[in-house]
Amino acid sequence: MNFDAIVIGAGQAGPPMAQRLSGAGMKVALIERKLFGGTCVNTGCWPTKTLVASAHAAHLARRAADFGVVLGGAVSVDMKRVKARQDALVRGQREGVERWVTDLPNCTVFRGHARFEAPRRIRVGDDVLSADKVFINVGGRANVPAMPGVDQVRTLTNTSLLELDELPRHLVVIGGSYIGLEFAQIHRRFGAQVTVVEMAPRLIQREDPEVSDAIRDILEAEGVQVRLEAKCISFEPDGQDIRVHVDCSDGEPQVTGSHVLLAVGRRPNTDDLGLDAAGIELDRRGYIVVDDALKTSADGVWALGDCNGRGAFTHTAYNDFEIVAANLLDGEARRVSDRIPTYALFTDPPLGRCGMSEAEARAAGKRVLVGRRPMTKVGRAVEKDETQGFMKIVVDADTKAILGAAILGTEGDEAVHGILDTMYAKAPYTTLQRAVHIHPTVSELIPTVLGELKAS
Ligand SMILES: Cc1cc2nc3c(=O)[nH]c(=O)nc-3n(C[C@H](O)[C@H](O)[C@H](O)COP(=O)(O)OP(=O)(O)OC[C@H]3O[C@@H](n4cnc5c(N)ncnc54)[C@H](O)[C@@H]3O)c2cc1C
Repeated sequence: MNFDAIVIGAGQAGPPMAQRLSGAGMKVALIERKLFGGTCVNTGCWPTKTLVASAHAAHLARRAADFGVVLGGAVSVDMKRVKARQDALVRGQREGVERWVTDLPNCTVFRGHARFEAPRRIRVGDDVLSADKVFINVGGRANVPAMPGVDQVRTLTNTSLLELDELPRHLVVIGGSYIGLEFAQIHRRFGAQVTVVEMAPRLIQREDPEVSDAIRDILEAEGVQVRLEAKCISFEPDGQDIRVHVDCSDGEPQVTGSHVLLAVGRRPNTDDLGLDAAGIELDRRGYIVVDDALKTSADGVWALGDCNGRGAFTHTAYNDFEIVAANLLDGEARRVSDRIPTYALFTDPPLGRCGMSEAEARAAGKRVLVGRRPMTKVGRAVEKDETQGFMKIVVDADTKAILGAAILGTEGDEAVHGILDTMYAKAPYTTLQRAVHIHPTVSELIPTVLGELKAS
């Protein structure tokens, strides 16, 4: 079967790509092997953020008295209802994506696993499709590390943990990074005992140490146990439980949990795609090698989203679609390197990040100025009685450009956007410093922070 374009994967970039191409009059095939909406909708952002909301409700309910609110009885969490809420939202979103793509004019949806037979020839079951243009949007999955004993015990990934409708008695989270920490706090707030085991000397180690330390303090204050510098992690069954050997810098050499979550990174879904038959180059970690316009090493083939290793977020996957569509259909010359890194850690309070960390800026040889403010000095946070964390902005002393920011605190995931937008506008920090923001908000203090920059 001949098409003008084939899109593999209905994740975050595939469906809008299919829509743009079919809207431009092309005959399009979209192939999805499992769940429409991909990771974000089914096993990533959507289910986890619905759980974050349930966990936040439980946390606030327990703190009700702090706000003068009197509850009738003890706070408890009904995991079956929590899961039903999660499932309903996810199902609605997944079905929405499926309806969207199946209703697209000029677009035929194929359900099945796609595999290349030649650069622009792809098999899906008994069908063989060909096209001048192919867009790969196959995403990734949880990495299952070859740790000793991992195959002797029951472990969970983000996908299987989200299928539980009972609370683990003691959840051991292997991996103290973004995904692991969100799950850790969620389950602690639902009432589980939680231990986070991290090989590095600190949590989320790509952040500045003060950010890692503050997040550790926040989690520990809620009763999450954190074990750092866990060398030689190994597993062994212990009756119905799982014993995790963690040769840490301090504390017991073992943790025994009822459930173990492996949250130690992701790997791209490129190993079963027949990419060698297409002459599409992979890097040593299995990501598809792309240029600045997301073209692969094969003519007429692009790779978008997590599978190209140039981003690991829904917003980066969607931006990949915007770049490719603009270049192909609007005569633009957009580049992925124009994108400023930005993301959030959706713990409570959240961490909103954009641009470089202070350590990255210094490593890049910049002469930096840093502005800081604890959330105890942010009126909105005080009024909400959510004063954990701080905001930090890093500026280039020579050019006055904002290099990056970290806002760990209530509304930090939203407030960071004003800084990000100033960076996109390529305006000096003084522009933002003179802006007048709404009172009382977290963003209102950003100009103040910029007025108090210091050399260290
Ligand atoms: C627990 C968790 C929480 C997350 N939270 C956030 C968050 O809050 N914010 C954020 O920005 N990002 C978050 N992410 C990351 C986000 O989910 C991904 O970055 C995003 O989904 C990537 O989109 P994608 O389109 O590249 O791939 P995916 O969404 O993974 O979609 C790929 C699609 O391709 C299909 N596919 C794969 N191989 C084939 C094949 N051979 N044939 C046919 N179809 C195939 C898959 O079935 C899938 O539907 C989270 C991830 C996880 C795991």
